[in-house]
Amino acid sequence: MKFAIVDVQGYIINNKFTVKELAIYDGKDVKSFLFKPTVNYHDLNTTDRKTANYLYHNIHGIPYETGDADYSEIQEILGNNLSSIDVVFVKGQAKADFLTENFVGWVDIVNLENDTTGEVPHLGSTKESCDNHKLKYCNCSIKNVYVLFDYVYNKLTGL
Ligand SMILES: [Zn+2]
Repeated sequence: MKFAIVDVQGYIINNKFTVKELAIYDGKDVKSFLFKPTVNYHDLNTTDRKTANYLYHNIHGIPYETGDADYSEIQEILGNNLSSIDVVFVKGQAKADFLTENFVGWVDIVNLENDTTGEVPHLGSTKESCDNHKLKYCNCSIKNVYVLFDYVYNKLTGL
């Protein structure tokens, strides 16, 4: 069985989770993508703007307007990078739902939080984030995929 870890950080726009930073790790290479916003900041409604500010200042520190990948390509990116993968592990139901909705394919998507036989690592902010973030210690999907990969690998190999 070949597995990969996927993690995302994002914003909530019109009640929909929208990815900003995506990381995919299969144990060899981490692939990461930073997506352009789907709605300009100034066009966000008041609620979404407040949430965006909160997420930016307290959770992941990725500026709303940054990004170079086109959001319309997200399904293609997931498909291309998971073409040889059987199972994707993700931590968190919202992230699992997002992947299920955006990725119709051969891959099983498993939320690690539903696994009651182990202690899934807390994705805290103890290590430095990658350069996408304006906060030094915050939620970074690239950092997260390494932590979760080690956890799953050790669990599957019985270490
Ligand atoms: Zn990051």
